[in-house]
Amino acid sequence: MLAEKDKVFTNLYGFDDWKLAGARKRGVWSNTKELLALGQAKIIDEVKNSGLRGRGGAGFSTGMKWSFMPKPSDRPHYLVVNADESEPGTCKDRDIIRFDPHRLLEGIVCGAFAINAHASYIYIRGEFVNEAKNMQIAIEEAYAAGLIGKNACGSGWDIDIYLHRGAGAYICGEESALLESLEGKKGQPRNKPPFPANAGLYASPTTVNNVETIAVVPEILRRGAAWFAGMGREKNSGNKVYCISGHVNQPCNVEEVMSIPMRELIEKYAGGVRGGWDNLLAVIPGGSSTPLLPKDICNTVLMDFDALKAVQSGLGTAGLIVMDKSTDLIYAIARLSRFYMHESCGQCTPCREGTGWMYRVMQRMVKGNARLEEIDMLIDVTREIEGHTICAHGDAAGWPIQGLIRHFRPMVEQRILDYRKQAA
Ligand code: SF4
Repeated sequence: MLAEKDKVFTNLYGFDDWKLAGARKRGVWSNTKELLALGQAKIIDEVKNSGLRGRGGAGFSTGMKWSFMPKPSDRPHYLVVNADESEPGTCKDRDIIRFDPHRLLEGIVCGAFAINAHASYIYIRGEFVNEAKNMQIAIEEAYAAGLIGKNACGSGWDIDIYLHRGAGAYICGEESALLESLEGKKGQPRNKPPFPANAGLYASPTTVNNVETIAVVPEILRRGAAWFAGMGREKNSGNKVYCISGHVNQPCNVEEVMSIPMRELIEKYAGGVRGGWDNLLAVIPGGSSTPLLPKDICNTVLMDFDALKAVQSGLGTAGLIVMDKSTDLIYAIARLSRFYMHESCGQCTPCREGTGWMYRVMQRMVKGNARLEEIDMLIDVTREIEGHTICAHGDAAGWPIQGLIRHFRPMVEQRILDYRKQAA
C-alpha cells in the first residue's frame, strides 16, 4: 500500500487550490533550480535508475528514451507531452491536468532540460475544454513568476511551453500521428524508422512523453531514484494512478503503488464489484485495447507491466473496466470493435478493412448469427492484422476480441447454438 508520505499527486481530487499558490504549498516548484543543477547526464541517470516506465501504455523506460536523444546538435530539440488521453476507461491525465497542472509544468522544465530542449508542446485532447483552460492559466502563472520562459527558475535555462488543442481523433494519441497533427497536418501515424528521437517534430530530435510520466519526474529527482525504485516490484517500480470504472460501487481514480493486487485495488478504493466479488465476470485491466481477464485470473493478478503481460494482457494506461455478471460480454467487445473501426485512420489496408470486417462479424456474433468456424476465422484475422500495420491501432483493435475468445469461447459458441435452435 502506498504510504501517505509517498503520494505524488496530492491534489488528485481537486480538493485544494490547483493554481500556483496551492501548488507551491504542495511542494511543487520548491527547488527546481537545484534539480536542474544536477546536470543533464545526472538527471537522465536518476530517471533511468528509478525504473520509471512510460505511463501512457507502452511502458518503455523513460530514462532510456531520453538517452536516445542526440547530444547537442545544430537542430532544435523538442519535448512533446502527450495529453491526448483518449483510451476508453482512462481519465488519469485529465485529473492531473485540471487539478495539478503546475506539477506537469515543473516536470516539463526538468525533462526539457535533460534532453536539451528549449521548447515544449503539450498536445491536449480537444474535448478537454476546462482542462485546457486550467493548463493555459497555469502556463501564464508560471511565465509571470519566472518559472518558465527565459532563465527558468533562475537556472540559466530557457524553456517555452505551448499548449496545443487537438480535434478529438483517438489516433492522435499515437506519438507520430500527434506530431503530424501538431505540424498542422492530418493526424496519421508515420512509418518508423525514423523514430522521433532522430526526426520528430519538424524533423528535429523529439521526445514524446505521457503527462503522468513527466509529472512524476521532479519528485524522483527530489527524493532520489532509490525512493521510486523502492515501491512496487523490480522493473515495475513507483507509484501509479489507476482509473477504475464500470460495475463497481464507487468508480474512481486512485494513486497507489505499482504491482498492487487488482482485487485489493477494486475492493479498497472502488467499493468493490457491484453485488460482491463473486459477481465479477471480467476486467479489462489497462484501457479498452488490453485483453479482458476472467475472474479466476483477477483473483490474484498484480497490476503491473510484467504481471499482466504474463497473463496475455497488459497494464496499458491502467484504466480498469470492471464487468459484472449482468454484462453481455460479446456485445461489450463488439462495441469496442466499432470504436476501433471508427478511429482507424485508414492508411493501411489490414487496419482499414480489417477493423470494419471484425466489427461486422462481431455484430453477428452478438446475435449468434454466425457459423462456429467463424470464431477461428475471426481470431485468424486479428492475427493477420497484428504486427502488419503502420501503428499499433491494428493490434489494439484485435486484442479485445482475442481476449474474449481466449477466455469465453464457450459463451460465444453457446450464443451461436442458441440462435440456430431458435431459427430451426
Ligand atoms: Fe492508421 Fe490503422 Fe494503419 Fe494505424 S494501423 S496507421 S490507425 S490504418
